[in-house]
Amino acid sequence: MNSIPSVIDLVVNNDLCIGCGLCTYKCPNNALGMEWNDYGFFVPVQIGACNNAGACLSVCPFNPEPEKEVQTEDELSDIFLSDAISSHPKIGKYNGIYVGYSNEFRLTSSSGGIATFVLTNLLERGIIQHIFSVKESDIHGTHYEYAISNSKQELIAGSKTKYYPVTLSSVFDKIDELEGKVAIVGVACFIKAIRLAQHSNPSLKKKITFLVGIICGGVKSRFFTEYLSSSAGVTKDLYYKPEFRIKDTSSTAGDYSFGCFSKKDNQKKTVKMKSVGDMWGTGLFKANACDYCDDVTTELADISLGDAWLSPFMQDGKGTNVIVTRSTLAEKVIIDGINAGKIQLEKLSLDRFLDSQKGSFNHRHTGLPYRIKQANKNGLVVPPKRIDRCGSSTLDFRIVQYYRMKVRIISLDMWKDNADSTIFNDKMKRILSTLKRFTTIYHYKRALFSKDVLNKIACRLRS
Ligand SMILES: Cc1cc2nc3c(=O)[nH]c(=O)nc-3n(C[C@H](O)[C@H](O)[C@H](O)COP(=O)(O)OP(=O)(O)OC[C@H]3O[C@@H](n4cnc5c(N)ncnc54)[C@H](O)[C@@H]3O)c2cc1C
Repeated sequence: MNSIPSVIDLVVNNDLCIGCGLCTYKCPNNALGMEWNDYGFFVPVQIGACNNAGACLSVCPFNPEPEKEVQTEDELSDIFLSDAISSHPKIGKYNGIYVGYSNEFRLTSSSGGIATFVLTNLLERGIIQHIFSVKESDIHGTHYEYAISNSKQELIAGSKTKYYPVTLSSVFDKIDELEGKVAIVGVACFIKAIRLAQHSNPSLKKKITFLVGIICGGVKSRFFTEYLSSSAGVTKDLYYKPEFRIKDTSSTAGDYSFGCFSKKDNQKKTVKMKSVGDMWGTGLFKANACDYCDDVTTELADISLGDAWLSPFMQDGKGTNVIVTRSTLAEKVIIDGINAGKIQLEKLSLDRFLDSQKGSFNHRHTGLPYRIKQANKNGLVVPPKRIDRCGSSTLDFRIVQYYRMKVRIISLDMWKDNADSTIFNDKMKRILSTLKRFTTIYHYKRALFSKDVLNKIACRLRS
């Protein structure tokens, strides 16, 4: 009997897996376990007999054949965030949009420390007793993983962004044994997987009372950390305690460094991210699944948090968050925090918020129909997407997409064979400069034909 395909047949074998690991929790036979693949990502592997009932697929955020009632983020948000007062096709359901930071946690966090503030607040109020967030794996800090915190001190130890593959499978193994309520921090696809699990298992709805959504520009392979360590002068087997967002409080928010320790001399080595080139707009070391994600702002979380890549906030190297509250509880935590003087926030207009994630909207909405077309052409399956909100793209932007997809694949293959940043940079130089050339043409044309410029020309012609 092999009636329903498994997550391995439909998702892993189509390179759509993001490694969230909820399939391992959902499998009634414990037939799945998580392992590193050859490209530095976590994927499920079969470790026991499959009952062929497809439970694993029901929680997969990239399931190409989901049930109609939970087909996309739209259906799921109708189920989980029905109380939200506003909605917008680009960002989903929401209550309020803010920008600002936490007095207490700003300097020890990646952006403004609002994630740590919200979670601490929920813990102190007794609304939750446990938090699943991403922390160092062991005392040597060789890698990161999801871990359970039960106190403020434990939670703070897990602050800061880790651009490192993680999986929820290790903590979900323990969720049924935990007494009390749980909050979880995660990027959009992980949050979607949790919502799917809550949908099919009402006890999880009661147990997981709050989701902190991390706005995500793409999940990177472990190779990304190895590359940055190598760029800082530490070879891939010798780094420990990688740190992705070392702030320079005397500079701008974007002027941060990567750092890690070397096992050779136990010294910390750092490298300015500006010096390694564009790691986000190029697709380097990114998971393929991210190219089929249209949830830019973590639409299914109670609260979504990102970096305020907006003037004047990005001029402040101490870091600032953009914040979208979606549930009533999230809005209350934020309003109470403002009133108590614990967080410094101001309202942000929808347009300004959209502007703060402009690059991600361009790539993941405007570029998506082209990428889906390419995938279909190559006989690959793609999960149902809300392409009605994506808009149309110009030829020059489609060329940029073509090269980004190429850079993504080539970077992973290249690092697998040459785990040294000097060799890698040399081998990637040609394709990266081609991508840069087409990106410059696209940016130039976009600026030339922007609404502002066209309005100015129209005004001149009229006068
Ligand atoms: C992979 C990734 C890509 C991102 N891309 C963007 C982007 O394109 N645009 C943007 O505006 N913001 C992006 N961010 C979010 C940004 O870096 C901050 O995490 C966010 O603004 C919250 O900042 P904070 O100061 O409030 O968080 P903090 O108070 O520092 O707390 C961060 C919380 O996130 C948890 N965490 C860290 N790494 C991970 C992870 N990999 N998965 C799940 N939880 C994690 C920590 O355990 C901690 O609880 C990204 C984050 C990640 C992890």
